[in-house]
Amino acid sequence: MKYLQNIHTHTYYCDGKDAPEDLVKEAIRLGLNAIGFSAHSASYYSDYPLPPNGTENYIKEVNRLKGVYGDQIDIFLGFEYDMYCGIDTSPFDYVLGAMHYLYMNGTFIPFDRDIANMELQINTHFGGDGMAFAKRYYKELADMPRHIKADAVAHFDTITKLCEKKRFFDYECREYLDAAFEAIHALVEKIPVFEVNTGAMSRGYRTVPYPTAPILREMQRAGAHLILTSDCHDLRTLTYAFPETLELIRSCGFGEIYYLTKSGFKAVPLY
Ligand SMILES: [Zn+2]
Ligand SMILES: [Zn+2]
Repeated sequence: MKYLQNIHTHTYYCDGKDAPEDLVKEAIRLGLNAIGFSAHSASYYSDYPLPPNGTENYIKEVNRLKGVYGDQIDIFLGFEYDMYCGIDTSPFDYVLGAMHYLYMNGTFIPFDRDIANMELQINTHFGGDGMAFAKRYYKELADMPRHIKADAVAHFDTITKLCEKKRFFDYECREYLDAAFEAIHALVEKIPVFEVNTGAMSRGYRTVPYPTAPILREMQRAGAHLILTSDCHDLRTLTYAFPETLELIRSCGFGEIYYLTKSGFKAVPLY
């Protein structure tokens, strides 16, 4: 099956490498029907390197590209919205709801920067108990619809990003899966679209995409809709590992994948 688009991409307006225009050109070269930009939400607790007026300039530039390339490819102005950031989402065509921080005792705690940071946070806030950390993450994530109106849930199990190299918790055991499954069922009614993300593979953190297969199978049972992205930070990875990931999605029981159109998400058969 032909893969159609990627709506999780970062540019030099946040922590990506490329100009939005170069990503559009690459998407056209690859024959995609659409590209969506999803800059990180800048907020008072985020230290992503957004330049001054970064969000404003980002919006302007993506809207300019729509005018220049709109007859060749659909371009969507999106946002990877951190769950607690409280920013107005009205300028955006779509919002990916993401969680990169826990909120505990009045403090925002980043947990996915690198292995040393994750270990430090688990030791500091959970007495070294990685499973307690995982349960806390899913409990907060399940609450996302109370904080934002997201169109899709980004990297649902992002806490496994660094866990192939060092296991802070067993992400295949019953206790972990129960916590994750509970979050799927809490979210799916309000936000039915979940992302399958190859970004951690392209950056060398993982050998397989997330969500992991047991979580994908539960998403299928729960009636979730999937989109495929590469969480692209470098245009060379715009469709990273898409063919094998579509195979994985199929093997987890899905018969279709969703893609974004000007009238919302639409299904396309995987066969
Ligand atoms: Zn993210
Ligand atoms: Zn991202």
